[in-house]
Amino acid sequence: MEDRSEAVEIAKLASDLVRIPSVSGNTEKVAEVADFIAEWMKKNGISAEIVNFEKNAPVVISQVGKGKKTILLNGHMDVVPEGDRRMWRADPYSGKLNGKGLYGRGSADMKGGLATMMHVFAEIADKTDYKVIFTAVPDEEIGGEKGARHLADRYAPDLVLLGEPSKSEMIGLGEKGLLQIKLIGEGRTAHASLPSLGKNAIMEVVRDIERLSKISNVRINAPKEVRPLLHEGVRRLGKDVGVITFSPGTINGGLKPNVVPDHCEVGIDMRLPPGITIEKAVSIAQSLVKETKIRIDSASEPNVTSPSVKEVARFIKTAKEHSPNASPVIKNGATDGCYFRYKGVPAVGFGPGSNELTHSYNEYVSLREMDIAYKVYRDFLL
Ligand SMILES: [Zn+2]
Repeated sequence: MEDRSEAVEIAKLASDLVRIPSVSGNTEKVAEVADFIAEWMKKNGISAEIVNFEKNAPVVISQVGKGKKTILLNGHMDVVPEGDRRMWRADPYSGKLNGKGLYGRGSADMKGGLATMMHVFAEIADKTDYKVIFTAVPDEEIGGEKGARHLADRYAPDLVLLGEPSKSEMIGLGEKGLLQIKLIGEGRTAHASLPSLGKNAIMEVVRDIERLSKISNVRINAPKEVRPLLHEGVRRLGKDVGVITFSPGTINGGLKPNVVPDHCEVGIDMRLPPGITIEKAVSIAQSLVKETKIRIDSASEPNVTSPSVKEVARFIKTAKEHSPNASPVIKNGATDGCYFRYKGVPAVGFGPGSNELTHSYNEYVSLREMDIAYKVYRDFLL
């Protein structure tokens, strides 16, 4: 039997974190987690400060080591809401532990990873040859503008390590970009019994949705170094990772069934793999759409860290030693890593917890994955 005593310690710490229901936007509970972490650091003989770059957005920052090279550890304290309580087998905030892992909202995303980072940080504090900065942010699940964005302005470390759930197997080196738009149809009202006197905005939108959906067929020309990462992303997470995804999510329009509608708009979410820019995607969208106007609601560029950067290559090697199936990938969703990559700082996501369980009911993180992440972080920092 493998020794997982460190993982058991980490799981207990993660359980304490899960018991604080720090849903994004609940400033009181998020602040409680920040205080808990800062107190925990002090108990372990490490000083920590709580910085508010913006109001009601505490960021825990702590630093050890004196090396020339700097590694920044980053985790988020917030969790997504638990949703319908009846769908949970047990209280999502009980922090229930069993012999195999920890149950509850935030266990996988990412209090398991956060606790692992805290534990390693305290362990390596007086041993590492790096300067290591531990950071915990309050708002990753709602965009990271008040936390990680400011950290990326303030620090330019040699590597950022994010403890986001990846089964302790996927090494996240890049993320898809986001392009959310509205297709807006403007028509002319008429009585529905004489529709040819009007211009039906719903039908305009419907036809353009169909036309725009072809954007998923656009060939992506990713840089050579990025292609294997995209392939791995597709193999592990599905074919959507490799294409511009297209998903209409909201639709609004019309007054009554007996009135030809003069206005309709549909909200569409598209995710861009590395190899295409927002500018290019918007121009393709413009060329596909014939009857409606496009309004951009939200956009962020795809971002990648090169696997050949020295510290990144060493992280990949260390991960493979403890997790033989580990491989670098591009992932579908966005994390706080993007703020650092936009500044040219290498950022790697690796941590316990499976992607299928994050944000879902009966969220769970296994001792096994916390154990692997613990060993990878520790060996990398020593
Ligand atoms: Zn997360």
